[in-house]
Amino acid sequence: MSAPPEAETTGPPEAAGPIDGPIDGAAEGPIDGPVDGPVEFPVDGAVDGAVGSAAAVDSPLDVALAALGYDEFRPGQREAVETLLESDRLLLVAPTGGGKSLVYQLPATVLPGTTLVVSPLVSLMNDQVTALNERGVAATYLAATLPGDEIKTRMRDIAAGRYRIVYAAPERLAFGGFRGLLADLDCPLVAIDEAHCISEWGHDFRPEYLAIGQMLADLAPPRIMACTATATPVVRDEILDRLGLPPDTPQLVRGFARPNLALRAREVRHRRERDGLVDATLAETLDRPGSGRGCAIVYTPTRKAAEEEADRLDRSGWSTAAYHAGLAADVRTGAQQRFLDGDVEVVCATNAFGMGIDRPDVRAVVHLAPPGSVEAYYQEVGRAGRDGADAVGLMLVGSGDMALRRHLIESSPDAAPETIQHRWNLFLELMRWAEGGSCRHDAILRYFDDEAETLAGCGRCDVCTTLGERVAEEDDDTTLIVRKALSAVARVHDRFGLQLAAKLLAGSADSRLEWSGLQDTKTFGALSDHSEAWLVRLLRRCVTAGWVDFRGGQRPMVVLTDDGREVMQGRRPVRLLLPSDAQATARAPRATGSKTAKPPPAELDETGQAVFEALRRFRLEEARREGVPPYVVASDRTLRDVAALRPRNLAELRLAHGIGPSKAERYGDALLGIVAEAAALA
Ligand code: ADP
Ligand code: ZN
Repeated sequence: MSAPPEAETTGPPEAAGPIDGPIDGAAEGPIDGPVDGPVEFPVDGAVDGAVGSAAAVDSPLDVALAALGYDEFRPGQREAVETLLESDRLLLVAPTGGGKSLVYQLPATVLPGTTLVVSPLVSLMNDQVTALNERGVAATYLAATLPGDEIKTRMRDIAAGRYRIVYAAPERLAFGGFRGLLADLDCPLVAIDEAHCISEWGHDFRPEYLAIGQMLADLAPPRIMACTATATPVVRDEILDRLGLPPDTPQLVRGFARPNLALRAREVRHRRERDGLVDATLAETLDRPGSGRGCAIVYTPTRKAAEEEADRLDRSGWSTAAYHAGLAADVRTGAQQRFLDGDVEVVCATNAFGMGIDRPDVRAVVHLAPPGSVEAYYQEVGRAGRDGADAVGLMLVGSGDMALRRHLIESSPDAAPETIQHRWNLFLELMRWAEGGSCRHDAILRYFDDEAETLAGCGRCDVCTTLGERVAEEDDDTTLIVRKALSAVARVHDRFGLQLAAKLLAGSADSRLEWSGLQDTKTFGALSDHSEAWLVRLLRRCVTAGWVDFRGGQRPMVVLTDDGREVMQGRRPVRLLLPSDAQATARAPRATGSKTAKPPPAELDETGQAVFEALRRFRLEEARREGVPPYVVASDRTLRDVAALRPRNLAELRLAHGIGPSKAERYGDALLGIVAEAAALA
């Protein structure tokens, strides 16, 4: 009976409008012909305009920047350009609009030759080329939307070395003529835009991107850079792998911090509580209807809920609009326009709302239910406070939301089992974030690996606020407990898993604690008045806080980070909320009521989870070795099954879903080895 789910992705690429005419004038670039020899900065006449200005005393990079018409680098840009030029390889992750293009455009203007940029959307290529031409850089693009003779002309000019930068859609790589052109091109740098499109785990997979790896191998350009706005660690690994870049390729992640957002997450038990929190948030941020203090977005999980919530808020006097993909196009456009014009105070919408919405004075983004992933959440909540002034992001989690999400995931039209499992895992990451315990702002940045921008507590989120209100005694208690917990991690550091650290603290009997001598240390039983399960939850919060990490290989071992050491030694404050005592661990989702819905996978216990992680690492290595996507080696469902069964021999292994005779023969021994090892160490 639930409303249809909204599409999770942005849909097919936009078709470019017709091109008005050739942009010939711009072809008169400053390049006379191919330039050979080592690169020195600044190169040739490209930066002439800047010489003699104040920028002349600056470094060559500043000179090149000024020549492009920019006054200064944005945070992170200089470092990114320098890294690219020093290492010849770079994976750059920054939000949309963060200024990633400059990181390849600037080198393109100083390196001799023609830089190639692979980019998925014709409309974007067109915009970029126009902007570059306006800045005096000879640039062009190739796309199927251009007339044939125009393509020929452009290709001739490219071959003559008349362009600094050439954009091409990945589909171009399928054309022999284009590949021939590339082979003869003096190309100092290839940049791959929207690089996550190469990842099947990403949310925007484009099969054409798979051809890029071969092109790079053939062309062997001296420098390669990939950029994307969304990439979790798994997706980043896949990007490097498929582009043929070494695993130690420098990765820079910047620009995700939004310190003016007060992030909050709350569990709600019933509808009335939910309504109350929405009302309170609107009152806090917009004051009252008609106050003219800005606007708010309420995201709903279904179309029906969007309309119901808009009605409810309308009855309270707010000027509202509902927005979802099920409305007629003109109704949608109308709602969007009224919102942009400032006639709407609260939009109640599904995730269909937001693309291209850039109203700076959104004071609150409320989610009635959690969206599909941390990435999706951060993108949606990021629509609040674009003007830099205070704004609130509130995510509500109700008791039925896990089941609802499961249903939405399973009923999406492209739901292969692997995809379902993958999306479910992404959702669980968001649930882990909601469970929280440490600063929400920092935890999100850590999720994106943007450690450089963490604030050691933002001071605004619900966790930071609660911590700020605590009395000194509570702080002392927490500090003592956390320091004890971290000392257990220090003792098992790089030798055992999280579970054993918990056992050590609880003082549980375990042969590993015995033979390792840990049983005779003061840490043994140091927190014996807490259950092992509670201690595991505490340690997980320490992971979210950045004090504890895992070290890979096939053994998931726990390590104390540098920050964790400082906390343990009392040189850094403990800013953590302890897990509550009574709270049940993650509720299993209820049946979804859909006939086709499979039962959700059983929750793995701690050991199972550790085995699962080890199996996944094996799968990634194996996929790399064989040059196939990971799911070809084994699906998540298979790995989960193996992790749950923990088979001791091939016969038992064969009981796992997806393990037939050929898989058993091919991977059987390796899988059994990993299970035995990981289970022993977990
Ligand atoms: P991304 O590729 O990361 O989505 P873009 O490269 O398109 O972002 O940059 C977004 C906007 O910011 C562009 O209009 C660009 O001209 C501008 N921009 C980038 N770097 C700078 C800078 N250093 N100073 C001023 N504007 C910049
Ligand atoms: Zn915080």
